[in-house]
This record gives sequence, structure tokens and C-alpha cells, in this order.
Amino acid sequence: MARVFLDKVNKIFANGVHAVKDVTLEAKDGEFLVLVGPSGCGKSTVLRMVAGLEKVTSGKIAIGDRVVNNLEPKHRDVAMVFQDYALYPHMSVRENLEFGLIMRKMKKSERAEKVESAAKILGLTDLLDRRPAQLSGGQKQRVAVGRAIVREPKVFLFDEPLSNLDAKLRAEMRTEIARLHQRLGVTTIYVTHDQVEAMTLGERIIMMESGTIQQVGSPLSVYEKPVNRFVAGFLGTPPMNFIEGEVVVGEKTGFTLADYLLPIPDSCKALILGLPVNASTYGIRPEHIKIVPAKGGDAFASGIPGEIVVVEPLGSRSIVILKIGKQELTAEVEPDDWLQPKSHVFMTVDGSHGHLFNREGWNLTGSQVSFS
Ligand code: ATP
Repeated sequence: MARVFLDKVNKIFANGVHAVKDVTLEAKDGEFLVLVGPSGCGKSTVLRMVAGLEKVTSGKIAIGDRVVNNLEPKHRDVAMVFQDYALYPHMSVRENLEFGLIMRKMKKSERAEKVESAAKILGLTDLLDRRPAQLSGGQKQRVAVGRAIVREPKVFLFDEPLSNLDAKLRAEMRTEIARLHQRLGVTTIYVTHDQVEAMTLGERIIMMESGTIQQVGSPLSVYEKPVNRFVAGFLGTPPMNFIEGEVVVGEKTGFTLADYLLPIPDSCKALILGLPVNASTYGIRPEHIKIVPAKGGDAFASGIPGEIVVVEPLGSRSIVILKIGKQELTAEVEPDDWLQPKSHVFMTVDGSHGHLFNREGWNLTGSQVSFS
């Protein structure tokens, strides 16, 4: 096992695309680190540079104690699993698993032992004599993972390994990969554009956009304290609601939503009373919006009046689209029969979970507030 360290790494392709910009990151020894971000943000390029499949333009990559910038991929002691499996079609599962070991001139008995052991871990024992064409997508991906395991590398690199699988299989394989990591404890860097995969697998996640790192942290800390609007909007399904408006300070203090005011997040109150704040967006996650039916004694109800537009029952939760003035908001609530389109509701938001973003998109809330 080993730690992986990237120090101010840049990649500029021959066509001038600056795909990775000054990226400094560390995957600690034995850690499961996930690089997540939208298509084209540079995450695969980072991984390919660690594997040695792309040269770095500037900066340093170290695996363990060695700087590997000039080492051939085969000497880096890493194993990479790709989205498209990259299996040899004319070889059986056993031969696919063995291939890397034969290239390293490992003895036959030792090879057999390693192949049997990996096959057992991944449930491939009964499939060893099949060819890739005779396997399902999930089985093929297991073989690809098996090929990485048998090499007993210092580092596993996964490049969107589950993207070609259907939703159910993807969830199953996700669990298998998590178990595998617990069992083997090998340093792992995993690239995905799927925020659910990132949240569920990563001990820490690194959010990337346009070749730069936006935020690093545990999945929950990044989810709860996104540094900017991009991170806030990327993590979470359904995504965070963003409401454009302004802070009003006076007899009533709050953030404007149609003719009403949303509560200022507690951690911003001091800031707002002490300083002029250029907060232009209020962010609230769907699970932090509550709604109650508006019926009969409306005069006694509190909250902001709105109307349900769409209800999506998911079984354990329901997703509700609400309209308040011209603003649509998504709420995630307990399912209930009264939740019907056109129903009138009162909405409240939990201000302690609100976020305020400035015009540049930075989160002004809580620990993100910086005066420097
Ligand atoms: P995806 O999830 O779609 O794979 P990604 O975040 O992994 O996206 P990269 O594949 O790292 O992104 O690509 C980053 C940027 O570099 C993109 O703009 C891409 O078009 C560009 N790029 C990637 N490979 C090359 C190449 N060989 N030559 C030129 N530009 C490239």
C-alpha cells in the first residue's frame, strides 16, 4: 500500500486544452478517495496521469516515496479498472485474470492460487472457463476488477467502472467495491460523475470543475457545507433549491421569496447585522422544506402559502414541486394521500439548514465565511 500525492499538477494537451490546473491532492495510505465532477472537468486526466497513461505538463506525482513522473505505467505498481472493462475477447476469464501475472513471469502454481482466490472473492469461480462474450455486463466488470486484484498493486485506480451497468447492478457493484476495499485496504482513487457513487463510496471526496479542485472533504461535510453554489448544486438528488433575491434587514429580517421572507441561516445573522452582505441567492435542500395542508382555519397557520404542482411518490419519500409566486421549489417529504397537484399548502423552511450565496457564488454561511 502507499499514499499518492499530486503536487501542483497541470495538464495541457497538444490542442491547447488546459484540462488539469494546479491540482494538489493526496490519497492517504489505504484511503478510498473519490474524484467527482461533471463530464469534462478533468478527473479522468488526473487518474490517467497517476497511472502513467498521460504525461504531466508540470508538477509532481508521487506514489509511496517515489516520484513517478518519468516511470512507465508498468513500473508504477498501480492497477486501473476502466469503464469499458477492456477484457481480451479471445481469452477465457481465467486467462484474462492470469494475463498480467504471466507477463510478470510468475510461476504457474502461484498464478493459479491468485486467480482462484480473486475468483472466490468476486464470485467468478463458476465462470472461469467462459469467454467475455458469454458474460453479463456486471460479470465482465467483476473480471476487470479481478484482473486488478490479482496483481496486488499498491494502488487501485477506477475510471467510472460502473457507468455501463444498469441502475440495479450499479448499486450491487457499488456495494461489492466498498466491501472489497474494506477487505483489502488498498489505497484507491475512484473517478465518477455520479454523485451518489461519490457520496456512498468515498471516505473523502474531491469535487472538480473545469480542471480545478473546488472542495475536499468527507461526503457529509461537503454535502452540508458546500463552499460554493456549484458544489451545492452538484451534490444531492433532487438538487438544492436556489432562490434569487436579497436580504432585507429591519423590522422583519429575512431573504425575499415572492412577497414573503425566508429565515436567515443562524450562522449568517451576525454577519448580516454587522456588515452589508451581497447575498443574492438562498439555497435550501428539498429535505429541509416542510409543508402542511392549507385548509379551514388558514388564519392560524404559519408559513408561506403555495400550491403543489407535481407529486412524485417514491415509496418511502415523496418529491413535491411547489409554486410560490413565480418560484418553483422542490420539497422531499413523508408520503401522504393529501399531497395532490393543485392542493394549497403552507411551507416552512428550516433556517438552520439554509445557505446564502453571494453574486460570485461563494457560500457565506457558517464556517465558509471568510473576511480575508
Ligand atoms: P468524462 O466524465 O466525460 O470522462 P472527465 O472529467 O474525466 O470527463 P477528462 O476526460 O479528463 O474529463 O477531460 C478533460 C478535458 O480535457 C476535456 O475538455 C477533454 O475534452 C480534454 N481532453 C481529454 N483528453 C484529451 C486529449 N487526448 N487531447 C485533447 N484534449 C483532451
